[in-house]
Amino acid sequence: MRFSRRLDSLPEYLTTRLNRRVAERRALGRDVISLGVGDPDLPPPEEARAALAAAVRRPDVAHYPTNRGIAPLREAVARFYAERFGVAIDPDTEVMPLLGAKEGLAHLALAQLDPGDVALVADPGYPVYAGGPTLAGAEAFGLPLLAANGFQPDLPAVPADVRARANLVIIGYPNNPTGAVAADGLFADLAGCGIPVCHDNAYSEITFDGYVAPSYLATAGARDSGIEILSLSKAFSLPGWRIAFAVGNAAMIANLHRLKTNVDAGMFVALQEAAIALLDLPASVRRAVADVYERRRNLACELLTAAGVAVDVPRAGMYIWLAVPDGSDSLAFAERMLTQADVVVSPGVAYGAAGEGYVRLALTQPDDRLGEAVRRMTRAL
Ligand SMILES: *Cc1c(COP(=O)(O)O)cnc(C)c1O
Repeated sequence: MRFSRRLDSLPEYLTTRLNRRVAERRALGRDVISLGVGDPDLPPPEEARAALAAAVRRPDVAHYPTNRGIAPLREAVARFYAERFGVAIDPDTEVMPLLGAKEGLAHLALAQLDPGDVALVADPGYPVYAGGPTLAGAEAFGLPLLAANGFQPDLPAVPADVRARANLVIIGYPNNPTGAVAADGLFADLAGCGIPVCHDNAYSEITFDGYVAPSYLATAGARDSGIEILSLSKAFSLPGWRIAFAVGNAAMIANLHRLKTNVDAGMFVALQEAAIALLDLPASVRRAVADVYERRRNLACELLTAAGVAVDVPRAGMYIWLAVPDGSDSLAFAERMLTQADVVVSPGVAYGAAGEGYVRLALTQPDDRLGEAVRRMTRAL
């Protein structure tokens, strides 16, 4: 059988590979602790589970949804943006549900890019940033996020011929995997760069030390040529529910809507109703989740520091972006941790060439297991 060559241009998806390696070790009877995949271990809020359960019992939710989403959901997103970010959005034209940020990012590339076009994408970055444009037949050009630059992109360093072909920038802060937050002025630079921007916002609610993450859309001019993707996966610990939103520039959203009407039929209405319940929860619910990650961040960083391992303490997110302590490459170090410590970490190179020299530790284990994992790692060093 012959298959599309399109897929040959993509590497094997990181999560698929990590899951296989863990299964292999566990089959050998090893007690493997995974700090690999960023899959929250906390339960979703009870209010949303109750809303979903109640909605599922109603026969009317079994009908096809629409790609635009129900009006009360779009209004709930507008309320959230107003209250949380101080950003006014038009619920009729400036918001659309997505079946997770990953779906939205992949389809945005397809809706936005032609062969010959370039997408400027964070490197290291969430794999779909490069995968989406590649599948669209366009070219993904990495914006290196380096420690020397505080993990901020250097737009002026993009060669002029590449920049001339660029029709999308994909980046997000608080950043995965580096843990960096947006530097002052970065969002203004993006808004003024003359290229459509997609700001991937998955971690605005998981911040530490009193830091409050802004929305990209709060920046003057951002909405003229940009959207933000707000995912509920991490803030509310329900990545399997697949709830996210495209928010911002009405033309970009209308164009993405046009594509999606040809691809999917929108979000299950019961999930849309649960999403309303989530968005209307008091801020204290999101803060309680962030507090758990803040405590785990402290625990992991204290154990690493006490063992003499240099670590950059992140102010947001669910990860530690650790410079490989033994000077080996990230794949070799990840493999060494798996075989010598029974701990899974993500090799930085899986997020792009500029991720080489780092591994990512996900803080998605209960405190005792996280502590045990970091102790095993430092003992193996
Ligand atoms: C986890 C994550 C998302 C969320 O993706 P969903 O598809 O909404 O679950 C988006 N972007 C980044 C950078 C992430 O780490």
